[in-house]
Amino acid sequence: MIGKLYLIPSPIGNLKEVSPRMIETISSCDLIACEDTRNTAKLLSLIGVSKPCFSCHEHNEKQASQTLVSKILDGKTVGFLSDAGYPCISDPGLILVKEAIQNNIEIVPISGPNAFLNALIGSGLDTSHFFFYGFLDSRPSQRKKELENIKNITSTILFYESPHRINETLKDMYNILGDRKVVVARELTKLHEEFIRTSLKEITFSTPNLIGEMVIVLEGKEETKEDISNEIILNTYKKFIDAKFTTKDAILATSIALNIKKNLVYSLVNKEK
Ligand code: SAM
Repeated sequence: MIGKLYLIPSPIGNLKEVSPRMIETISSCDLIACEDTRNTAKLLSLIGVSKPCFSCHEHNEKQASQTLVSKILDGKTVGFLSDAGYPCISDPGLILVKEAIQNNIEIVPISGPNAFLNALIGSGLDTSHFFFYGFLDSRPSQRKKELENIKNITSTILFYESPHRINETLKDMYNILGDRKVVVARELTKLHEEFIRTSLKEITFSTPNLIGEMVIVLEGKEETKEDISNEIILNTYKKFIDAKFTTKDAILATSIALNIKKNLVYSLVNKEK
């Protein structure tokens, strides 16, 4: 019988977030694959479990995944942990998961700590729709391009960032995306946990000394009148025409109904003629 692959989140700071299921799962595994064997050895010793550890990190993931998959096919049960939080979320694991899926191996994700979800729910920004971006590129020119690409997203956006780039990143966000609400969630689950709820403008000009680990939670683009498509404008106009309004009155009625400028409706109607 072939084994299984367990994906096991680890604490993002507070070691009390080790769950009974995590301990039980690790105890049931034959082998623990992890990003850094020394870090994981400390965690295992904390929970009083001793298991062989196998290194699988971003620089050897392809090769290590093949070895791990062949061990699972031989009947071994493997648990995969990244250094903090969920495997596969801005951390290694995806190559291993894909390799396991190709070999029809059962994958069992365990629930547990994750930085961006804590940041999102504590931020006070819209949680009904959100977009997890992860890390922006560390090269300034690429980072700016990436920000240009996500300029029009209207849902809350979450970024991971390192403390030595945070001020530059917030400044680029302000320059490219304009002023928006932003929450910097620092040191989540730790002693000095803090939510800085502010705006891009305020934080850019105050340049606080932001240290520790942090997540940026950014308000999405405000849905403005410009987002009303030409199609919607013309359809609304046609409905008024069908209702026997004159051209002039239909233009006025459309601009009132959609709360947009009369000239915009006028120029679209003229283009259509
Ligand atoms: N796999 C992890 C997860 O599920 O959240 C993310 C790992 S990623 C390599 C590390 C980034 O996550 C940090 O640079 C920071 O942006 C964020 N992070 C991790 N722990 C955090 C914490 N305790 N407080 C705030 N942000 C944290």
